[in-house]
Amino acid sequence: MDFLPIFLNLKNQPCLIVGGGEVAVRKAAVLLQAGATLRIVSPQLIDSFELPQGSEYIAERFQSAHLDGMTLVIAATDDAAVNEQVSREAKLRKLPVNVVDNPELCSFIMPAILDRSPLVVAFSTGGASPVLARMMRGKLEALIPQAYGRLAAFAERFRDIIKQRIAEPAQRRIFWEDMLDGVVAEKVFAGDEQAAEAILRDKLDHPQQQAQGEVYLVGAGPGDPDLLTFRALRLMQKADVVLYDNLVSKPIMEMTRRDARRIFVGKQRGDHTLPQEEINELLVRHAKEGKRVLRLKGGDPFIFGRGGEEIEKLAEHGIPFQVVPGITAASGVSTYAGIPLTHRDHAQSCVFVTGHLKDGGLDLDWEKLAVPNQTIVVYMGLQGLGNLCGNLIKHGLSPDMPIAIVQHGTRPTQRVVCGTLATLPQDSVLAELQAPTLIIVGGVVTLRKKLAWFKPEQQIEISSRETI
Ligand code: SAH
Repeated sequence: MDFLPIFLNLKNQPCLIVGGGEVAVRKAAVLLQAGATLRIVSPQLIDSFELPQGSEYIAERFQSAHLDGMTLVIAATDDAAVNEQVSREAKLRKLPVNVVDNPELCSFIMPAILDRSPLVVAFSTGGASPVLARMMRGKLEALIPQAYGRLAAFAERFRDIIKQRIAEPAQRRIFWEDMLDGVVAEKVFAGDEQAAEAILRDKLDHPQQQAQGEVYLVGAGPGDPDLLTFRALRLMQKADVVLYDNLVSKPIMEMTRRDARRIFVGKQRGDHTLPQEEINELLVRHAKEGKRVLRLKGGDPFIFGRGGEEIEKLAEHGIPFQVVPGITAASGVSTYAGIPLTHRDHAQSCVFVTGHLKDGGLDLDWEKLAVPNQTIVVYMGLQGLGNLCGNLIKHGLSPDMPIAIVQHGTRPTQRVVCGTLATLPQDSVLAELQAPTLIIVGGVVTLRKKLAWFKPEQQIEISSRETI
């Protein structure tokens, strides 16, 4: 280790910055965040920089006297001789000094900082590659949610009490690990510190009681794992049990914790789906066993996902849960197909409907659907396609109205077939399509010609169908 990472308390400590350009100002901002007061020395200072109260700007070239009374020094000028002079004089006075981009002249270096105060992570490559340090910070940025700062502050509040109650350090560590990784942490992240405190106190009073389980109802998006949210990923890697169905893509399943138990609750062969009540029961049972249960759903759990029903049951049983939104098929699939759902020239509104057949028919409000300048997105609509197109024409839409059907949107097997309300239901290609598919009706479909940007692995569109 070439440098020892330490955290300096600079509250109200005078620090010198030599230089008045962009780099100097960036360093100034970091020091100010740490509560330092500044002396900035430079013949010029960029206009946009506002010096806070308690700090001073000296419009001069650097001289040794500027170091008087300082606790730390940063040189950020574009003049090598000045930087060198600052370094030399500061070192003579045994003042910690940093010269930007010049590790040889530094007695300390500035790390890349991930700030979730009071949690702060510092990255350094000892000056070898600041860009690499920043990239590493970027990676952790995704894994450490903003709310970890809140969690650290929460933990601080209880530090003394818990020290008194659990005297043995090893036991205390286990207690904290349990609290900071489980329901308490998730309650803090969700902003419910009251509930977090209640659970923590309960655990303190009843240490033998089994850990409480919880359920994460998580939207996994339409298939491309890049479309997961940070929160989804974090919970996926935390869960002990995963309940999933056909809509969750394989690459996404592979991102769940390796040793988690996976339970398939989707359509089995013969189209038999596990009844919703049984899924609800499974969630409750595993959570009651103290497990962290992930209910992973395609798209967004609250859009045609029956997510509401699943958590109603949990609420009845007093089981803690949280819901993570996902990119719904309408949004993800249309984007990857190059079809904007609204557009100044084509659509000022957009509706999402289910095209699921009930007793062989579609139960939709056709008057509201068949209106001009509106995009209609139909979930679960393939089987009812003929019925859908027929009804839209019957209620006033033009038989030439463009319509697209997208198979496996956002995935390598994405396939888009376009046509019109009159032609598409007759198209023999429909027989080749595989679930899931999404239907988009409206003038916006024509924009695909210009805007299709995503190139799936198999480009199997048939050009003669691209007549619009
Ligand atoms: N909760 C989900 C929708 C569940 S209903 C969401 O928000 O997206 C299931 C329907 O979603 C499918 O029948 C299909 O119409 C649509 N769907 C989901 N993922 C899709 C995908 N990758 N490509 C095309 N359609 C998709």
